[in-house]
Amino acid sequence: MELLVATHNQHKKDEIQQILGSRYTVKSLADYNLHDEIVEDGKTFEENALIKAKYCYEKTGIPSLGDDSGLAVEALNGKPGIYSARYAGDHNFEKNIAKVLEEMQGEENRNAHFITVLCYYDETGATYYKGEVYGDLLTENRGHKGFGYDPIFVPKGHSITFAEMPPEEKNKMSHRKKAIEKFLDRR
Ligand code: IMP
Repeated sequence: MELLVATHNQHKKDEIQQILGSRYTVKSLADYNLHDEIVEDGKTFEENALIKAKYCYEKTGIPSLGDDSGLAVEALNGKPGIYSARYAGDHNFEKNIAKVLEEMQGEENRNAHFITVLCYYDETGATYYKGEVYGDLLTENRGHKGFGYDPIFVPKGHSITFAEMPPEEKNKMSHRKKAIEKFLDRR
């Protein structure tokens, strides 16, 4: 069965295909010649995931999946949250990390979690699947793998950051993996 994933990012398409396995053939926006930038102006992860999935379904009629992810820091009341990608500079991971670390200076509560919300959209409407991974924030960067906030995030039960782990290890426990598995389990 074909599934259109609302992304321009080939890496994300491949990762989702790998987790979903052979039950679905994952397509991306480029496969349907959709080149618009989808405006994510929702106020929650759910709203943003819905905007993306609904856009794809309405353009193509193919069952579609939209996702939205981010980092939620307990001591910052859930920030950067839906603004994770552009907290200090648009997809400027260094600046975004620096802003979080500055706001967390002297803070003892280092609890944080990554979240992914998936929205599946077809002729019956929208369904949501959420994945989370809990951990602690460091006070400085460690490791060079991964992306985003990986260098300051140590998942619970581990002693190294996501940026120090081989990608296969991170992908086994990630928020994205958990959300996609929920989707697979319930469909
Ligand atoms: P997106 O919704 O998957 O594009 O994620 C939005 C932003 O959240 C990214 O630009 C990152 O800053 C952050 N983020 C999401 N997932 C991860 C992750 O697995 N590691 C580190 N940062 C992440």
